[in-house]
Amino acid sequence: MYQDDAAGDWGGDGAEVSLAPHQEPAERDVEMTLRPRRLSEFVGQARVREQLELVLHGALKRGDQPDHVLFSGPPGLGKTSLAMIIAAELGASIRVTSGPALERPGDLAAMLSNLAEGDVLFIDEIHRIARPAEEMLYLAMEDYRVDIVVGKGPGATSIPLELAPFTLVGATTRSGALTGPLRDRFGFTAHMEFYSAEELEQVVRRSAGILGVDLRDDGAAEIARRSRGTPRIANRLLRRVRDFADVRADGAVTRDIARAALEVYDVDEQGLDRLDRAVLGALIRSFHGGPVGISTLAVAVGEEPTTVEEVCEPYLVRAGMLARTPRGRVATAAAWHHLGLTPPQHAPGERPPSLFDE
Ligand code: ADP
Repeated sequence: MYQDDAAGDWGGDGAEVSLAPHQEPAERDVEMTLRPRRLSEFVGQARVREQLELVLHGALKRGDQPDHVLFSGPPGLGKTSLAMIIAAELGASIRVTSGPALERPGDLAAMLSNLAEGDVLFIDEIHRIARPAEEMLYLAMEDYRVDIVVGKGPGATSIPLELAPFTLVGATTRSGALTGPLRDRFGFTAHMEFYSAEELEQVVRRSAGILGVDLRDDGAAEIARRSRGTPRIANRLLRRVRDFADVRADGAVTRDIARAALEVYDVDEQGLDRLDRAVLGALIRSFHGGPVGISTLAVAVGEEPTTVEEVCEPYLVRAGMLARTPRGRVATAAAWHHLGLTPPQHAPGERPPSLFDE
């Protein structure tokens, strides 16, 4: 059973035909169809999958409640999918909420006291949970108990409330923002990595099968290559390319169709979208390649610092175009080249001048 108790905060930024890894509300339905349901259907993240399988099947074998699980990593890499898979593998129900929805401890207490034995509680963006609710979570995670405070001031009393044993699954795009005590209460933590092009090819092939898209091998490879290492983006590009193939061609998704479609949607050869390029452009043109602080850079592109930090940066770093230094963000030589510019000698990754150069 799936119940969505989130208060609508799914991190979507609502802007344009976004190719950012955030999920947009309209996408929720189609994502439900494309979500892998079991661990065996989940592509990639081999290590996390293997470790999780041991955690779950170990607990199942012993008849115990599995440890609480924390997934960290950029948006769109499969954290929510894995939370749902955990429930499916355990044959349990899942309740879904998010850190920002748990502003008052009462919200959390209501949620926790409604859990049945063995349920999975998924808290997305758990680093954004309000402090009083977080403190309530400590006891709930450790002892399956909460203390409800009734009344105010000197007359206030606390009434202990027993909870049914449950497994908490937390997801965060910023594991560094989690407090130590909260992190310590997770028995299993996993960091999700960006996917390889081969893995993303498997993701789009699977999705094309479900959606009935005529996806050719070279089309799958092209979409995978330009998906910023992110399954959510791979699925989104597949749907946009399918539109293009249906409207402007015979419906078959080939490499040429994918290329033409992705040009319309401003996704470049390396999979960078408009915001990625805006960040690199500002860094290079306004700040001569940096170093520059994240807040200044975010203002320059008109975005929230958290969006630049959590959505753009991880991929730009992994693509070798941006470096984080103690003095700020720096564009690497690859970033200059990507924008068709000549990097200065001080750009990281630039070959030092050689005596033998002409
Ligand atoms: P997150 O919670 O990390 O933002 P989601 O779990 O919501 O990411 O994943 C977004 C979408 O990407 C899912 O609906 C699913 O279609 C797809 N997806 C993510 N990971 C995988 C995977 N490993 N295999 C297949 N599809 C995946």
